[in-house]
Amino acid sequence: MKIKYSNDKRVFNIHTEGIPYLSVDMLDEMGVPNLYSTRFLSYDEETDKGTEGIRTALMKGDDLSEAVPHIAKMRDRLARQIGSSIEYECITDQKHTNYVHVAKEEDVNIRWPERKPLHMQYVDGIVSDIPNVLLTVFGGDCPPVYIVDPVRKAIGLVHAGWRGTLGRIPEVAIAQMVVHFGSDPSDMYAAIGPGVCRDCYEMGDEVYDAFAEEWSKKEADEILCRYPALDSDGREIPGGKYHLDIFSANKMTLLRAGIPHNHISVSNVCTKCNADTFYSYRAGRLENEQAAMLVNRFR
Ligand SMILES: [Zn+2]
Repeated sequence: MKIKYSNDKRVFNIHTEGIPYLSVDMLDEMGVPNLYSTRFLSYDEETDKGTEGIRTALMKGDDLSEAVPHIAKMRDRLARQIGSSIEYECITDQKHTNYVHVAKEEDVNIRWPERKPLHMQYVDGIVSDIPNVLLTVFGGDCPPVYIVDPVRKAIGLVHAGWRGTLGRIPEVAIAQMVVHFGSDPSDMYAAIGPGVCRDCYEMGDEVYDAFAEEWSKKEADEILCRYPALDSDGREIPGGKYHLDIFSANKMTLLRAGIPHNHISVSNVCTKCNADTFYSYRAGRLENEQAAMLVNRFR
């Protein structure tokens, strides 16, 4: 599987046996099972060919009775790749909020989305200290943020699209872990998973305005910059659009929440630049989304 990286740092490990997936090197080193899926159901290294068709997420227009058994089976196969199963799964609903749910035993293995308890709706992040619980979020271009606390043996996983990022959803998750599990952010580690890179993430002025207002103008200027508009000969002309660096924005939030700099892993993989390998909303690949999974198990 050929993946374009935005820098040489080794952030992810690539697994191509069975259903291919990426895992975060920093979390692998800690023995915490984690994954980020791809477009492929299988992959043949010799021919450099993958088989598509894996569906992990429920998409708009899906017929529930047809899609649910299929996506549950596929997520279970994915989870088994990292020694878990959907029997242990607690899953987000994802409405681009910054609500983070503290998973209880009764929220695990709920047969989502057939059965979706009211308190799990509008949830874009989950934290838990239940041993072996599997957390799942989805993303096309929105990166997942994996959070682990090896001291309190607790984890969090959030879906950080631009709205969740604006709402500082990783910090909300960290705060829940502090309150409910007694976590200390200085013990915690966080990894920002694959998502859309700054070059591929053009935004309207209202996104800059929202960050300048809810964060600060200084921070908005650090994470958003205006790319010049060019004419057909490549000359700069008035206009241009803002581009958001969603990876830097979430890293800023993790640092602000107290996670040490050297405990943070930042993605160097863009889903749109790698639309051959990943579903990407911005690349017009809307048939499915990647699943990000994290298991509460430490070596
Ligand atoms: Zn890109």
